[in-house]
Amino acid sequence: MLFKPEKLKIKDQRMKSFIDSDELWGFINNARPTKEGVRNIIAKSLDKQRLTLEETAMLVQASDPELVEEIKQGAKSLKEKVYGQRIVLFAPLYIGNRCINKCAYCGFKSTNKAIKRITLTNEELVAQVQALEDAGHKRLILVYGEHPTYDAKFIADTVRTVYSVRSGPGEIRRVNINAAPMDIDGFRIIKDAKIGTYQVFQETYHEETYAKVHLGGIKRNFEWRLTALDRAQEAGIDDVGIGALFGLYDWRFEVLGLIRHTNHFEAVYNVGPHTISFPRIQYASELNISKSHLVSDEHFTRLVAILRLAVPYTGLILTAREPGSIRDEIMQFGVSQIDGGTNIELGGYSKKDQAEAQDIDLEQFQINDSRSLNEIMDELIEHDYIPSFCTSCYRRGRTGEHFMEFSVPGFIKRFCQPNAMLTLAEYLEDYAPAATKEKGYLLIQKKLDEMEKDSSRADLIGKIEQVKAGKRDLYF
Ligand code: SAM
Ligand code: SF4
Repeated sequence: MLFKPEKLKIKDQRMKSFIDSDELWGFINNARPTKEGVRNIIAKSLDKQRLTLEETAMLVQASDPELVEEIKQGAKSLKEKVYGQRIVLFAPLYIGNRCINKCAYCGFKSTNKAIKRITLTNEELVAQVQALEDAGHKRLILVYGEHPTYDAKFIADTVRTVYSVRSGPGEIRRVNINAAPMDIDGFRIIKDAKIGTYQVFQETYHEETYAKVHLGGIKRNFEWRLTALDRAQEAGIDDVGIGALFGLYDWRFEVLGLIRHTNHFEAVYNVGPHTISFPRIQYASELNISKSHLVSDEHFTRLVAILRLAVPYTGLILTAREPGSIRDEIMQFGVSQIDGGTNIELGGYSKKDQAEAQDIDLEQFQINDSRSLNEIMDELIEHDYIPSFCTSCYRRGRTGEHFMEFSVPGFIKRFCQPNAMLTLAEYLEDYAPAATKEKGYLLIQKKLDEMEKDSSRADLIGKIEQVKAGKRDLYF
Protein backbone atom coordinates (compact mmCIF):
# COMPACT_ATOMS: atom_id res chain seq x y z
CA MET A 1 0.00 0.00 0.00
CA LEU A 2 1.48 3.33 -0.94
CA PHE A 3 0.74 6.64 0.74
CA LYS A 4 1.12 10.28 -0.12
CA PRO A 5 3.94 11.70 2.06
CA GLU A 6 1.62 14.25 3.68
CA LYS A 7 -0.58 11.39 4.86
CA LEU A 8 2.30 9.78 6.65
CA LYS A 9 1.56 11.34 10.02
CA ILE A 10 2.66 8.56 12.30
CA LYS A 11 0.27 8.38 15.25
CA ASP A 12 1.40 5.07 16.67
CA GLN A 13 4.14 5.83 19.23
CA ARG A 14 5.86 2.57 18.39
CA MET A 15 6.40 3.93 14.88
CA LYS A 16 8.55 6.84 16.03
CA SER A 17 12.27 7.19 15.39
CA PHE A 18 14.51 5.44 17.88
CA ILE A 19 17.71 6.92 16.50
CA ASP A 20 19.33 9.71 18.48
CA SER A 21 22.30 10.91 16.47
CA ASP A 22 23.81 12.88 19.37
CA GLU A 23 23.76 9.71 21.45
CA LEU A 24 25.48 7.69 18.70
CA TRP A 25 28.11 10.39 18.12
CA GLY A 26 28.56 10.59 21.90
CA PHE A 27 29.53 6.90 21.98
CA ILE A 28 31.96 7.39 19.09
CA ASN A 29 33.57 10.56 20.41
CA ASN A 30 33.93 9.25 23.94
CA ALA A 31 35.50 5.95 22.92
CA ARG A 32 39.17 5.69 23.96
CA PRO A 33 40.35 2.38 22.55
CA THR A 34 43.32 0.86 24.38
CA LYS A 35 44.96 -2.42 23.41
CA GLU A 36 43.63 -4.12 26.49
CA GLY A 37 40.13 -2.68 26.06
CA VAL A 38 39.86 -3.77 22.41
CA ARG A 39 41.19 -7.24 23.21
CA ASN A 40 38.62 -7.65 25.98
CA ILE A 41 35.84 -6.66 23.61
CA ILE A 42 37.01 -9.15 20.98
CA ALA A 43 37.18 -11.83 23.70
CA LYS A 44 33.61 -11.02 24.76
CA SER A 45 32.40 -11.53 21.22
CA LEU A 46 34.34 -14.80 20.90
CA ASP A 47 32.60 -15.83 24.09
CA LYS A 48 29.38 -15.54 22.06
CA GLN A 49 28.08 -12.34 23.62
CA ARG A 50 26.65 -9.49 21.63
CA LEU A 51 28.48 -6.16 21.96
CA THR A 52 26.95 -2.96 23.33
CA LEU A 53 26.93 0.34 21.44
CA GLU A 54 29.73 1.56 23.66
CA GLU A 55 31.89 -1.46 22.88
CA THR A 56 31.13 -1.26 19.16
CA ALA A 57 32.18 2.42 19.27
CA MET A 58 35.53 1.34 20.73
CA LEU A 59 36.05 -0.97 17.76
CA VAL A 60 35.15 1.65 15.13
CA GLN A 61 37.57 4.06 16.79
CA ALA A 62 40.45 1.58 16.99
CA SER A 63 42.67 2.67 14.10
CA ASP A 64 46.06 1.35 15.25
CA PRO A 65 47.01 -1.16 12.48
CA GLU A 66 47.86 -3.83 15.05
CA LEU A 67 44.40 -3.54 16.63
CA VAL A 68 42.66 -3.41 13.25
CA GLU A 69 44.41 -6.67 12.40
CA GLU A 70 43.30 -8.18 15.71
CA ILE A 71 39.71 -7.15 15.00
CA LYS A 72 39.87 -8.86 11.60
CA GLN A 73 41.49 -11.95 13.13
CA GLY A 74 38.78 -11.94 15.80
CA ALA A 75 36.06 -11.95 13.13
CA LYS A 76 37.83 -14.83 11.35
CA SER A 77 38.10 -16.87 14.56
CA LEU A 78 34.44 -16.27 15.36
CA LYS A 79 33.49 -17.51 11.93
CA GLU A 80 35.69 -20.60 12.24
CA LYS A 81 34.55 -21.32 15.78
CA VAL A 82 30.83 -20.88 15.15
CA TYR A 83 29.82 -21.00 11.54
CA GLY A 84 32.15 -23.37 9.73
CA GLN A 85 32.66 -23.30 5.99
CA ARG A 86 29.20 -22.81 4.52
CA ILE A 87 28.09 -20.00 2.21
CA VAL A 88 24.48 -19.71 1.12
CA LEU A 89 23.95 -18.60 -2.48
CA PHE A 90 21.10 -16.52 -3.89
CA ALA A 91 20.34 -14.32 -6.89
CA PRO A 92 18.62 -10.92 -7.06
CA LEU A 93 15.81 -10.62 -9.60
CA TYR A 94 14.69 -7.10 -10.56
CA ILE A 95 10.96 -7.05 -11.25
CA GLY A 96 10.42 -3.39 -12.11
CA ASN A 97 12.38 -0.14 -12.16
CA ARG A 98 9.56 2.40 -12.15
CA CYS A 99 10.01 4.70 -9.19
CA ILE A 100 8.45 7.83 -7.75
CA ASN A 101 11.37 8.67 -5.48
CA LYS A 102 14.41 10.82 -6.11
CA CYS A 103 17.23 9.06 -4.34
CA ALA A 104 20.39 10.92 -5.37
CA TYR A 105 22.45 7.69 -5.49
CA CYS A 106 20.13 5.47 -7.54
CA GLY A 107 19.78 5.05 -11.30
CA PHE A 108 16.03 4.37 -10.91
CA LYS A 109 15.24 7.85 -9.51
CA SER A 110 12.15 9.36 -11.11
CA THR A 111 14.09 12.25 -12.67
CA ASN A 112 16.47 9.99 -14.58
CA LYS A 113 15.25 10.19 -18.17
CA ALA A 114 18.22 8.17 -19.50
CA ILE A 115 16.90 4.92 -18.11
CA LYS A 116 14.34 2.66 -19.81
CA ARG A 117 11.42 1.95 -17.49
CA ILE A 118 10.43 -1.69 -17.47
CA THR A 119 8.13 -3.87 -15.41
CA LEU A 120 8.42 -7.56 -16.22
CA THR A 121 5.25 -9.07 -17.64
CA ASN A 122 4.13 -12.40 -16.27
CA GLU A 123 5.73 -14.24 -19.23
CA GLU A 124 8.95 -12.29 -18.85
CA LEU A 125 9.02 -13.05 -15.15
CA VAL A 126 8.53 -16.76 -15.85
CA ALA A 127 11.37 -16.67 -18.42
CA GLN A 128 13.71 -15.02 -15.91
CA VAL A 129 12.89 -17.57 -13.22
CA GLN A 130 13.37 -20.45 -15.65
CA ALA A 131 16.80 -19.08 -16.62
CA LEU A 132 17.73 -18.80 -12.93
CA GLU A 133 16.48 -22.32 -12.21
CA ASP A 134 18.43 -23.60 -15.23
CA ALA A 135 21.59 -22.16 -13.70
CA GLY A 136 20.85 -24.02 -10.44
CA HIS A 137 19.41 -21.30 -8.21
CA LYS A 138 16.95 -22.15 -5.41
CA ARG A 139 16.80 -18.84 -3.53
CA LEU A 140 15.90 -15.44 -4.98
CA ILE A 141 15.45 -11.92 -3.74
CA LEU A 142 12.93 -9.95 -5.78
CA VAL A 143 13.69 -6.22 -6.10
CA TYR A 144 11.22 -3.44 -6.97
CA GLY A 145 11.31 0.33 -7.35
CA GLU A 146 8.78 2.27 -5.28
CA HIS A 147 5.72 2.90 -7.41
CA PRO A 148 1.92 2.60 -7.09
CA THR A 149 2.11 -0.26 -9.63
CA TYR A 150 4.16 -2.29 -7.17
CA ASP A 151 1.61 -2.44 -4.37
CA ALA A 152 1.32 -5.32 -1.89
CA LYS A 153 -0.98 -7.33 -4.14
CA PHE A 154 1.33 -6.97 -7.13
CA ILE A 155 4.32 -8.06 -5.06
CA ALA A 156 2.40 -11.02 -3.58
CA ASP A 157 1.34 -12.08 -7.09
CA THR A 158 4.92 -12.00 -8.38
CA VAL A 159 6.05 -14.07 -5.38
CA ARG A 160 3.38 -16.71 -6.09
CA THR A 161 4.37 -16.77 -9.76
CA VAL A 162 8.01 -17.32 -8.89
CA TYR A 163 7.16 -20.23 -6.57
CA SER A 164 5.03 -21.82 -9.30
CA VAL A 165 7.70 -21.93 -12.03
CA ARG A 166 9.36 -25.28 -12.75
CA SER A 167 12.09 -25.83 -15.29
CA GLY A 168 13.33 -29.42 -15.45
CA PRO A 169 14.40 -30.35 -11.92
CA GLY A 170 14.54 -26.65 -11.02
CA GLU A 171 12.35 -24.84 -8.51
CA ILE A 172 12.67 -21.75 -6.34
CA ARG A 173 12.27 -22.70 -2.70
CA ARG A 174 12.67 -19.36 -0.99
CA VAL A 175 11.66 -15.91 -2.22
CA ASN A 176 12.93 -12.89 -0.29
CA ILE A 177 11.85 -9.31 -0.99
CA ASN A 178 13.62 -5.96 -1.24
CA ALA A 179 10.92 -3.36 -1.78
CA ALA A 180 9.48 -0.16 -0.39
CA PRO A 181 7.99 0.01 3.10
CA MET A 182 4.30 -0.95 3.38
CA ASP A 183 1.62 -0.33 5.94
CA ILE A 184 0.66 -3.22 8.24
CA ASP A 185 -2.16 -4.45 5.98
CA GLY A 186 0.21 -4.48 3.01
CA PHE A 187 2.75 -6.53 4.92
CA ARG A 188 0.00 -9.02 5.82
CA ILE A 189 -0.86 -9.49 2.14
CA ILE A 190 2.78 -10.18 1.37
CA LYS A 191 3.21 -12.53 4.30
CA ASP A 192 0.35 -14.64 2.94
CA ALA A 193 2.37 -15.23 -0.24
CA LYS A 194 4.92 -17.04 1.98
CA ILE A 195 7.87 -14.74 1.55
CA GLY A 196 11.16 -15.47 3.28
CA THR A 197 12.91 -12.30 4.47
CA TYR A 198 11.61 -8.73 3.87
CA GLN A 199 14.50 -6.30 3.46
CA VAL A 200 14.35 -2.53 3.77
CA PHE A 201 17.65 -0.65 3.99
CA GLN A 202 17.63 2.59 5.93
CA GLU A 203 20.41 3.82 3.58
CA THR A 204 21.65 6.28 6.23
CA TYR A 205 20.73 6.48 9.92
CA HIS A 206 21.77 10.15 9.94
CA GLU A 207 18.56 12.12 9.55
CA GLU A 208 20.15 15.28 8.11
CA THR A 209 22.06 13.34 5.48
CA TYR A 210 18.93 11.30 4.79
CA ALA A 211 17.09 14.53 3.94
CA LYS A 212 19.92 15.63 1.63
CA VAL A 213 19.97 12.49 -0.49
CA HIS A 214 16.23 11.79 -0.66
CA LEU A 215 14.99 14.66 -2.72
CA GLY A 216 11.42 13.67 -3.45
CA GLY A 217 8.74 11.01 -3.09
CA ILE A 218 7.59 8.92 -0.15
CA LYS A 219 11.08 7.84 0.72
CA ARG A 220 11.80 11.35 2.01
CA ASN A 221 10.01 10.38 5.21
CA PHE A 222 12.78 9.13 7.51
CA GLU A 223 10.47 7.71 10.20
CA TRP A 224 8.20 5.89 7.76
CA ARG A 225 11.25 4.07 6.46
CA LEU A 226 12.94 3.54 9.81
CA THR A 227 9.84 1.89 11.26
CA ALA A 228 9.00 -0.15 8.14
CA LEU A 229 10.18 -3.39 9.64
CA ASP A 230 8.33 -2.69 12.89
CA ARG A 231 5.15 -2.70 10.81
CA ALA A 232 6.33 -5.90 9.17
CA GLN A 233 6.75 -7.42 12.64
CA GLU A 234 3.28 -6.20 13.62
CA ALA A 235 1.95 -7.98 10.53
CA GLY A 236 3.65 -11.21 11.59
CA ILE A 237 6.75 -11.03 9.38
CA ASP A 238 9.46 -11.75 11.91
CA ASP A 239 12.12 -12.47 9.35
CA VAL A 240 13.44 -9.04 8.37
CA GLY A 241 16.66 -7.65 6.91
CA ILE A 242 18.18 -4.25 7.65
CA GLY A 243 20.99 -2.43 5.87
CA ALA A 244 22.87 0.81 5.38
CA LEU A 245 24.15 2.16 2.08
CA PHE A 246 27.78 2.87 2.91
CA GLY A 247 29.17 6.06 1.36
CA LEU A 248 26.38 8.48 2.22
CA TYR A 249 27.63 9.39 5.70
CA ASP A 250 30.43 8.52 8.13
CA TRP A 251 30.80 4.71 8.14
CA ARG A 252 31.39 4.61 11.90
CA PHE A 253 28.04 6.27 12.56
CA GLU A 254 26.24 3.88 10.19
CA VAL A 255 27.74 0.86 11.97
CA LEU A 256 26.36 2.18 15.25
CA GLY A 257 23.03 2.91 13.55
CA LEU A 258 22.78 -0.73 12.44
CA ILE A 259 23.56 -1.94 15.97
CA ARG A 260 21.02 0.48 17.44
CA HIS A 261 18.41 -0.84 15.00
CA THR A 262 19.28 -4.40 16.04
CA ASN A 263 18.93 -3.49 19.74
CA HIS A 264 15.56 -1.93 19.02
CA PHE A 265 14.23 -5.16 17.50
CA GLU A 266 15.60 -7.24 20.32
CA ALA A 267 14.07 -4.96 22.93
CA VAL A 268 10.64 -4.69 21.29
CA TYR A 269 10.17 -8.03 19.50
CA ASN A 270 12.63 -10.22 21.34
CA VAL A 271 14.31 -11.14 18.07
CA GLY A 272 17.03 -9.34 16.13
CA PRO A 273 16.97 -8.84 12.36
CA HIS A 274 17.61 -11.98 10.35
CA THR A 275 20.24 -10.30 8.20
CA ILE A 276 22.31 -7.15 7.88
CA SER A 277 23.36 -5.85 4.45
CA PHE A 278 26.11 -3.32 3.89
CA PRO A 279 25.95 -2.22 0.24
CA ARG A 280 28.62 0.28 -0.77
CA ILE A 281 27.73 2.99 -3.31
CA GLN A 282 28.50 2.00 -6.90
CA TYR A 283 28.49 4.05 -10.05
CA ALA A 284 24.92 4.61 -11.26
CA SER A 285 23.42 6.54 -14.15
CA GLU A 286 23.02 10.18 -12.92
CA LEU A 287 24.71 9.43 -9.60
CA ASN A 288 24.59 12.69 -7.69
CA ILE A 289 26.14 12.52 -4.24
CA SER A 290 29.01 14.15 -2.38
CA LYS A 291 32.16 12.02 -2.45
CA SER A 292 33.22 13.00 1.05
CA HIS A 293 31.97 9.84 2.77
CA LEU A 294 32.81 7.22 0.15
CA VAL A 295 34.23 4.22 1.98
CA SER A 296 37.71 2.91 1.08
CA ASP A 297 38.38 -0.83 0.75
CA GLU A 298 40.38 -0.68 3.95
CA HIS A 299 37.55 0.87 5.96
CA PHE A 300 35.00 -1.37 4.29
CA THR A 301 36.70 -4.65 5.20
CA ARG A 302 37.23 -3.30 8.71
CA LEU A 303 33.59 -2.36 9.19
CA VAL A 304 32.38 -5.80 8.12
CA ALA A 305 34.73 -7.44 10.65
CA ILE A 306 33.34 -5.09 13.33
CA LEU A 307 29.74 -5.95 12.44
CA ARG A 308 30.56 -9.66 12.67
CA LEU A 309 31.94 -9.19 16.17
CA ALA A 310 29.17 -6.82 17.31
CA VAL A 311 26.23 -9.06 16.31
CA PRO A 312 27.74 -12.52 16.14
CA TYR A 313 24.39 -14.25 15.53
CA THR A 314 23.01 -12.14 12.68
CA GLY A 315 23.37 -13.23 9.05
CA LEU A 316 25.61 -10.98 6.95
CA ILE A 317 24.89 -10.53 3.23
CA LEU A 318 27.54 -9.55 0.74
CA THR A 319 26.60 -8.73 -2.85
CA ALA A 320 28.13 -8.56 -6.31
CA ARG A 321 28.46 -4.80 -5.89
CA GLU A 322 31.88 -5.72 -4.53
CA PRO A 323 34.73 -7.05 -6.69
CA GLY A 324 35.88 -10.67 -6.27
CA SER A 325 39.01 -9.73 -4.26
CA ILE A 326 37.01 -7.86 -1.58
CA ARG A 327 34.41 -10.62 -1.53
CA ASP A 328 37.16 -13.20 -0.88
CA GLU A 329 38.53 -11.27 2.10
CA ILE A 330 35.15 -10.45 3.63
CA MET A 331 33.87 -14.00 3.32
CA GLN A 332 36.48 -15.02 5.84
CA PHE A 333 34.72 -12.80 8.40
CA GLY A 334 31.67 -14.98 8.50
CA VAL A 335 29.50 -13.62 5.72
CA SER A 336 26.61 -16.05 5.53
CA GLN A 337 25.15 -15.29 2.09
CA ILE A 338 26.45 -14.06 -1.26
CA ASP A 339 24.79 -13.70 -4.64
CA GLY A 340 26.12 -15.62 -7.60
CA GLY A 341 25.72 -15.21 -11.35
CA THR A 342 24.14 -11.85 -10.67
CA ASN A 343 22.55 -9.77 -13.39
CA ILE A 344 20.65 -6.73 -12.22
CA GLU A 345 19.46 -5.68 -15.64
CA LEU A 346 15.69 -5.95 -16.02
CA GLY A 347 15.18 -9.11 -18.06
CA GLY A 348 18.94 -9.81 -18.13
CA TYR A 349 18.98 -13.45 -17.00
CA SER A 350 17.30 -14.86 -20.07
CA LYS A 351 19.55 -13.02 -22.56
CA LYS A 352 21.78 -15.47 -24.41
CA ASP A 353 24.86 -13.29 -24.49
CA GLN A 354 25.66 -12.22 -20.94
CA ALA A 355 28.16 -9.57 -22.12
CA GLU A 356 25.37 -7.93 -24.09
CA ALA A 357 23.19 -8.19 -21.00
CA GLN A 358 25.18 -5.65 -18.95
CA ASP A 359 23.40 -2.50 -20.05
CA ILE A 360 23.69 0.47 -17.70
CA ASP A 361 20.52 1.99 -19.20
CA LEU A 362 18.57 -0.80 -17.58
CA GLU A 363 20.51 -1.18 -14.36
CA GLN A 364 20.15 0.45 -10.99
CA PHE A 365 23.93 0.64 -10.55
CA GLN A 366 27.00 -1.16 -11.87
CA ILE A 367 28.07 -4.45 -10.35
CA ASN A 368 31.69 -5.55 -10.00
CA ASP A 369 31.41 -9.30 -9.88
CA SER A 370 29.71 -10.70 -12.95
CA ARG A 371 31.01 -14.26 -12.68
CA SER A 372 28.52 -17.01 -13.49
CA LEU A 373 27.00 -19.07 -10.68
CA ASN A 374 29.15 -22.02 -11.70
CA GLU A 375 32.34 -19.94 -11.66
CA ILE A 376 31.47 -18.85 -8.12
CA MET A 377 30.68 -22.45 -7.14
CA ASP A 378 34.06 -23.57 -8.53
CA GLU A 379 35.88 -20.93 -6.59
CA LEU A 380 34.05 -21.62 -3.34
CA ILE A 381 34.73 -25.35 -3.64
CA GLU A 382 38.41 -24.72 -4.38
CA HIS A 383 38.63 -22.61 -1.21
CA ASP A 384 36.98 -25.36 0.84
CA TYR A 385 33.66 -23.55 1.30
CA ILE A 386 30.51 -25.65 0.98
CA PRO A 387 28.17 -23.68 -1.30
CA SER A 388 24.65 -24.14 0.05
CA PHE A 389 21.18 -23.66 -1.40
CA CYS A 390 19.56 -24.78 1.85
CA THR A 391 16.03 -23.58 2.60
CA SER A 392 15.29 -26.11 5.30
CA CYS A 393 14.81 -23.98 8.46
CA TYR A 394 12.37 -21.69 6.77
CA ARG A 395 10.29 -24.60 5.47
CA ARG A 396 10.43 -26.52 8.73
CA GLY A 397 9.36 -23.44 10.67
CA ARG A 398 12.70 -23.09 12.42
CA THR A 399 12.70 -19.29 12.30
CA GLY A 400 15.59 -17.35 13.76
CA GLU A 401 17.99 -19.88 12.31
CA HIS A 402 21.03 -17.64 12.53
CA PHE A 403 20.43 -17.28 16.20
CA MET A 404 20.04 -21.05 16.53
CA GLU A 405 23.15 -21.72 14.47
CA PHE A 406 24.98 -19.52 16.87
CA SER A 407 23.47 -20.49 20.16
CA VAL A 408 22.14 -24.06 19.95
CA PRO A 409 24.99 -26.52 20.49
CA GLY A 410 25.39 -28.90 17.55
CA PHE A 411 22.84 -27.08 15.38
CA ILE A 412 25.24 -26.51 12.49
CA LYS A 413 26.50 -30.08 12.69
CA ARG A 414 22.97 -31.51 12.76
CA PHE A 415 21.25 -29.32 10.21
CA CYS A 416 23.27 -26.69 8.34
CA GLN A 417 26.30 -28.64 7.17
CA PRO A 418 24.38 -31.79 6.10
CA ASN A 419 21.78 -29.65 4.28
CA ALA A 420 24.54 -27.69 2.56
CA MET A 421 26.06 -30.97 1.36
CA LEU A 422 22.69 -32.28 0.14
CA THR A 423 21.89 -29.12 -1.84
CA LEU A 424 25.42 -29.11 -3.24
CA ALA A 425 24.95 -32.72 -4.37
CA GLU A 426 21.71 -31.73 -6.10
CA TYR A 427 23.53 -28.93 -7.91
CA LEU A 428 26.36 -31.27 -8.92
CA GLU A 429 23.88 -33.79 -10.32
CA ASP A 430 21.64 -31.35 -12.16
CA TYR A 431 23.72 -28.36 -13.26
CA ALA A 432 27.47 -28.74 -12.81
CA PRO A 433 29.92 -29.34 -15.66
CA ALA A 434 32.04 -32.50 -15.21
CA ALA A 435 35.04 -30.70 -13.67
CA THR A 436 32.89 -28.98 -11.00
CA LYS A 437 31.08 -32.23 -10.31
CA GLU A 438 34.32 -34.04 -9.65
CA LYS A 439 35.67 -31.30 -7.36
CA GLY A 440 32.34 -30.98 -5.59
CA TYR A 441 32.07 -34.67 -4.72
CA LEU A 442 35.69 -34.67 -3.51
CA LEU A 443 34.75 -31.83 -1.13
CA ILE A 444 31.66 -33.70 0.06
CA GLN A 445 33.80 -36.80 0.70
CA LYS A 446 36.35 -34.72 2.58
CA LYS A 447 33.63 -33.24 4.80
CA LEU A 448 32.15 -36.71 5.39
CA ASP A 449 35.59 -37.99 6.41
CA GLU A 450 35.86 -35.19 8.95
CA MET A 451 32.53 -36.13 10.57
CA GLU A 452 32.09 -38.37 13.58
CA LYS A 453 31.15 -41.86 12.46
CA ASP A 454 27.69 -41.90 14.02
CA SER A 455 24.12 -42.48 12.86
CA SER A 456 23.67 -38.89 11.58
CA ARG A 457 26.60 -39.39 9.23
CA ALA A 458 25.14 -42.68 8.03
CA ASP A 459 21.81 -40.92 7.50
CA LEU A 460 23.48 -38.21 5.47
CA ILE A 461 25.39 -40.71 3.32
CA GLY A 462 22.08 -42.49 2.67
CA LYS A 463 20.43 -39.25 1.58
CA ILE A 464 23.35 -38.30 -0.69
CA GLU A 465 23.01 -41.70 -2.38
CA GLN A 466 19.28 -40.98 -2.86
CA VAL A 467 20.13 -37.64 -4.49
CA LYS A 468 22.52 -39.45 -6.85
CA ALA A 469 19.69 -41.86 -7.66
CA GLY A 470 17.39 -38.96 -8.63
CA LYS A 471 15.56 -37.97 -5.39
CA ARG A 472 15.34 -34.23 -4.79
CA ASP A 473 14.64 -31.78 -1.98
CA LEU A 474 15.88 -33.96 0.90
CA TYR A 475 16.76 -32.12 4.08
CA PHE A 476 17.15 -32.39 7.82
N1 SAM B 1 13.12 0.74 -4.11
C1 SAM B 1 13.27 0.03 -2.89
C2 SAM B 1 14.03 0.82 -1.88
O1 SAM B 1 14.58 1.85 -2.21
O2 SAM B 1 14.09 0.35 -0.74
C3 SAM B 1 13.94 -1.31 -3.02
C4 SAM B 1 14.90 -1.56 -4.08
S1 SAM B 1 16.36 -0.58 -4.09
C5 SAM B 1 16.49 -0.88 -5.77
C6 SAM B 1 17.50 -1.62 -3.20
C7 SAM B 1 18.72 -0.98 -2.60
O3 SAM B 1 19.69 -0.68 -3.57
C8 SAM B 1 18.52 0.34 -1.92
O4 SAM B 1 17.94 0.18 -0.66
C9 SAM B 1 19.94 0.91 -1.88
O5 SAM B 1 20.56 0.62 -0.64
C10 SAM B 1 20.66 0.15 -2.98
N2 SAM B 1 21.25 1.08 -3.96
C11 SAM B 1 20.64 2.09 -4.60
N3 SAM B 1 21.52 2.76 -5.39
C12 SAM B 1 22.72 2.17 -5.23
C13 SAM B 1 24.03 2.42 -5.75
N4 SAM B 1 24.29 3.43 -6.60
N5 SAM B 1 25.03 1.61 -5.36
C14 SAM B 1 24.81 0.59 -4.50
N6 SAM B 1 23.60 0.30 -3.97
C15 SAM B 1 22.57 1.09 -4.32
FE1 SF4 C 1 13.61 4.17 -6.20
FE2 SF4 C 1 14.67 2.47 -4.40
FE3 SF4 C 1 16.18 3.58 -6.33
FE4 SF4 C 1 15.30 5.09 -4.38
S1 SF4 C 1 16.71 3.32 -4.17
S2 SF4 C 1 15.24 5.63 -6.56
S3 SF4 C 1 13.31 4.20 -3.99
S4 SF4 C 1 14.52 2.17 -6.62
